[in-house]
Amino acid sequence: MRTKTLKKNRINVVTLGCSKNVYDSEVLMGQLRANDKEVVHEEDGNIVVINTCGFIANAKEESVNTILEYVQQKESGVVDKVFVTGCLSERYKPDLQKEIPNVDAYFGTSDLPNLLKALEADYKHELLGERLTTTPKNYAYLKIAEGCDRPCSFCAIPLMRGKHRSKPIEDLVKEAENLAVKGVKELILIAQDLTYYGLDLYKKRNLAELLRALVKTEGIEWIRLHYAFPTGFPMDVLQVMRQESKICNYIDIPLQHISDPILKSMRRGTTKQKTTKLLEDFRKAVPNMTIRTTLIVGYPGETEEDFQTLKEWVKEMRFERLGCFTYSHEENTHAFALQDDVPEDVKQERANEIMELQSQISWELNQEKIGQTFRCIIDRKEGNYFVGRTEFDSPDVDNEVLIDASEYYLKQGDFASITITEAADFDLYGIPSN
Ligand code: SF4
Repeated sequence: MRTKTLKKNRINVVTLGCSKNVYDSEVLMGQLRANDKEVVHEEDGNIVVINTCGFIANAKEESVNTILEYVQQKESGVVDKVFVTGCLSERYKPDLQKEIPNVDAYFGTSDLPNLLKALEADYKHELLGERLTTTPKNYAYLKIAEGCDRPCSFCAIPLMRGKHRSKPIEDLVKEAENLAVKGVKELILIAQDLTYYGLDLYKKRNLAELLRALVKTEGIEWIRLHYAFPTGFPMDVLQVMRQESKICNYIDIPLQHISDPILKSMRRGTTKQKTTKLLEDFRKAVPNMTIRTTLIVGYPGETEEDFQTLKEWVKEMRFERLGCFTYSHEENTHAFALQDDVPEDVKQERANEIMELQSQISWELNQEKIGQTFRCIIDRKEGNYFVGRTEFDSPDVDNEVLIDASEYYLKQGDFASITITEAADFDLYGIPSN
């Protein structure tokens, strides 16, 4: 058992889950730093704040295990205090308080001032848009809205994040300017539903106007769109993407499924025909656009026929980027009333089949890149390689470009022109071009 005594009053923030949680942890850390607190991200500290995820079974399990791990450290005197915040805490606070009582306090997803008070710090309004980023300095997430008004049957996020609230354009521009001053070159726009932006605040879908404002931010060179929604997609966004070179020709649009009976049961408000048409319109409007999507297999009532429809469609659509999850039966969601009738092993088999198909598609698409030169941003050095990304790749989820570090030198955070020499299913290899 490790008995090292840790430095006094060092707050260690631990982030689980999605990029929106990363953003929230960064806001918390910015507030703590402004209160002259010593704060670190996933390093040693005698006070621990765990920002949890409560989305699906695997994520919940990881969050509970992380809480138990730090509670054990508290019981063995390695850490002094453990606080828990984020989605799992928002969703299951009474149960957690009963099951794991040795946590100092539990907080919800919109409880920052109280969490700060527990950490002997004050909430500073004037800090709007300022945070301590934890990502490599060349890119940062920009959360443009919180919550979600969509009725997707399988999703617990509205239970944990509440109704959709857009942030004003002027606040987001200020945030982008602050980030650019710190050396950020790539902004990754996130929300639960990016394309709903503005409907509450401006009574219209206003993502295009926000993008037109953000591209004026000096120092920002790439702006990337994540978490779009198919229904009511604001087509003027495609115009901005085509006209503004700073907007990456890239869109992440989770589609979840394509068989009409399943889309209906999922309450997605769209059909196979409409979704296919939307993607065709994307490709017409921005020819070399990279489309990332996410699918769910094993949803209640998914028949072999539904699954074959999905598989055939994935073959036909040839997404550049695709992820696939197995359905998780989440209490208090609309789908929880349905029978979770697809066996776990069948769910997993179907997910494997989709990803096998996708790795073949990705391999074929990557072969076409050999000999081409791409502007890449260099994120880090790892082992014998410098690791970069093209505008068609988002951090942590997409392809990477690997450059041999024993042959070439590149600077983290810089852009570099890279000629592709070799291509695997999910990674590319290349050399700097003159
Ligand atoms: S849009 Fe996304 S976050 Fe909102 S309910 Fe649907 S799946 Fe959940």
